[in-house]
Amino acid sequence: VETSYKRIKEVDGEVQAFLTLDEERARAKAKELDEKNSDDKGLLYGMPIGIKDNIVTKNLTTTCASRILENFDPIYDATVMGKLHQAETITIGKLNMDEFAMGSSNENSAYKNTKNPWDLNTVPGGSSGGSAAAVAAGEVLFSLGSDTGGSIRQPAAFCGVVGMKPTYGLVSRFGLVAFASSLDQIGPVTRTVEDNAYLLKAIAGHDQMDSTSANVNIPDYLNALSGDVKGLKIAVPKEYLGEGVSEESKQSVLDALKVLESLGATWEEVSLPHSKYALATYYLLSSSEASANLSRFDGVRYGYRTPDAQNLIEMYKQTRAEGFGEEVKRRIMLGTFALSSGYYDAYYKKAQKVRTLIKKDFDDVLEKYDVIVGPTTPTPAFKIGENIDDPMTMYMNDILTIPVNLAGVPAISVPCGFAGGLPLGLQIIGKHFDESSVYRVAHAYE
Ligand code: GLN
Repeated sequence: VETSYKRIKEVDGEVQAFLTLDEERARAKAKELDEKNSDDKGLLYGMPIGIKDNIVTKNLTTTCASRILENFDPIYDATVMGKLHQAETITIGKLNMDEFAMGSSNENSAYKNTKNPWDLNTVPGGSSGGSAAAVAAGEVLFSLGSDTGGSIRQPAAFCGVVGMKPTYGLVSRFGLVAFASSLDQIGPVTRTVEDNAYLLKAIAGHDQMDSTSANVNIPDYLNALSGDVKGLKIAVPKEYLGEGVSEESKQSVLDALKVLESLGATWEEVSLPHSKYALATYYLLSSSEASANLSRFDGVRYGYRTPDAQNLIEMYKQTRAEGFGEEVKRRIMLGTFALSSGYYDAYYKKAQKVRTLIKKDFDDVLEKYDVIVGPTTPTPAFKIGENIDDPMTMYMNDILTIPVNLAGVPAISVPCGFAGGLPLGLQIIGKHFDESSVYRVAHAYE
């Protein structure tokens, strides 16, 4: 804990990964754990961890990097926080993100721009940019992020760390501030695959407080870290090495496949033909869900309230106009439009149908292969400010991660070479609830 805070004092003035530090309580917890005289230690006894600021933490400010939740101190803990408590981690603080997890660069935070520790002029990725940057800069050993369309894997790739989006339903979403409920998952960000498996083991599991939480047996992921991938069958979608993907990203994946081949795995090219519709489908569905989820921020129940409205309607309007940033407003408007009665069938319903086709693509391929492998992102991290005025280019960043959320399957990003001095990520995608195979391949490659 002391090492963490020392490192934060040294580098966070530049990296700016943290929104809130919880020093007093972290030290008290460390002391309490130190004094605990028992052999019965938690899985992650005494390990310092950072938490993305959209995961509610009791009595510890949780802002979602939004003005509208500026002084929000939750009265309860998210289920994952209870699990971390059992595992005996120590929460160091809350990490910066794009507002309400909408974005790919952390430039949508209402508070600060987190920097990529590899090059302070470039973005750390997003929306879990704080989670990835803090681990990459050595400020914490572990962090939690959330991934709706790539928000754990893309920043992990940009910052050269390991980020896992678990199968939808594996980790409880109770206490994760909802962006798009049918896509959101909490997951671990770490330096190594082994650390990642430990942290997922600590937070996975059924939860009655989340109706979409799956009641499945959780295998011990650590057993998968044998280094053995002999006979394993890998699928490589041609769409993931096609147009829009940089030469460096392609080459790094081909190099990684050579390593896996030398370890006894085999690979073949396959097709995920509906991938080209994933971005459009995702932005319709996620914005629709966001427009409903974010209606709770009305200035009445919690968070910011405009000081000078004359009546109730004006209070709602001004609170939301002043409290939300541009990108969040853009999504609320898009989602409200897509759900409006005249357009529901043409947009929302159509997108749901296409989502089913995208999921079927994955099911078909994963019936014949153990994992799917490709790049995490089309390019390495971009410069701060480079894409800020161009939402479409920004959205393109997630073209290789979004289909995975639509299908609900697990995927990890592990470091896989460099381009121009910046890290690249290898994405490994598995079958529903087969995180073990994903870890197996990631660990063997790492
Ligand atoms: N960048 C994507 C978006 O802006 C994904 C975000 C996420 O996974 N939370 O929606």
